[in-house]
Amino acid sequence: MRILITGGAGFIGSHLAEYCLEHGDEVYIIDDLSTGSMENLRHLQRHPDYQNKLFVHINTILNHDLLLELTGICDRVYHLAAAVGVQTILDKPLESIVTNIQGTEKVLEICNKFKKRVLIASTSEVYGKHLHAPLIETDNVIYGPSSKFRWSYAAAKLIDEFTALAYYRTHGLEVVITRLFNTVGPRQTGTYGMVIPRFVRQALKNEPITVYGDGTQTRTFTYVNDVVEAMIRLMASDSAIGEVFNIGGVEEISILDLAQKIIAMTGSSSKLTLIPYDDAFGKDFEDMARRVPSTEKLKQEIDFAPDRDLDFILLKVIEFMKNH
Ligand code: UDP
Repeated sequence: MRILITGGAGFIGSHLAEYCLEHGDEVYIIDDLSTGSMENLRHLQRHPDYQNKLFVHINTILNHDLLLELTGICDRVYHLAAAVGVQTILDKPLESIVTNIQGTEKVLEICNKFKKRVLIASTSEVYGKHLHAPLIETDNVIYGPSSKFRWSYAAAKLIDEFTALAYYRTHGLEVVITRLFNTVGPRQTGTYGMVIPRFVRQALKNEPITVYGDGTQTRTFTYVNDVVEAMIRLMASDSAIGEVFNIGGVEEISILDLAQKIIAMTGSSSKLTLIPYDDAFGKDFEDMARRVPSTEKLKQEIDFAPDRDLDFILLKVIEFMKNH
């Protein structure tokens, strides 16, 4: 098959590209390198088997003609291009909203023109600030006010979901929506805020580990290859069309415990330092206290759910960072 991956030079996109190439697909990528990097694709571009199978376009998804051309020749589209990371959303609020809303709208419009099946990568962020667990796909969403810009990301991604579902209902476009929960693995950078690469880098350099708030906020972490596997299987499943699925790990851990675990696993002499949210992100920041997915719907649909545990994930990230 020919696969178009928007955001294919990003962390998750590059792993998806690798999986598709390994399974004999041709891969077309559009990426503006805003948070992605050609480094993520270098090993694939150098691979002798993939010389005529990987085509990378450094461009924006808002480029209508390019998107039209590539969607036209591809069989399936994975839409991963987005402004991601809490830091990016706060630093570039307008650009993030434009990319996340207009970009997705354009991808859907063109997929509909050619009737190409499309996966929309959404996020666990759309749930907002729940305290209960696990989060199920039909839960209400709870956001803070528009003065707290973090929620612009959740709201934009929710609009993406609505737009995709509206294309499905109105035009029968085959869409699959995935809500990704804190995906982690080799090649992820901490530059845009992501906690595990940041903590691992700090631990390896024996620098202070920057725990934001009081560190009691919890997350679950998902290994990137599990996310890729789930996305591929969902796209192959006709009954997943028009549906929303959580993709996430289920091992809940506080950020404080995560920091301690990373210190222990790296044998680091780093100390924990608690940084108030205001100092880390400026005023008007709000964190999510808890975020744990239900993976029941995913399991029922594809007989698979992420199961790589946190120790495995951390070992992989530590190994990668030691070598890079
Ligand atoms: N976090 C932290 N220190 C850091 C980076 C992140 O304590 O250097 C916290 C952050 O406040 C959040 C959690 O780790 O509670 C996960 O952050 P991340 O940005 O990875 O993802 P989020 O779940 O916020 O989208």
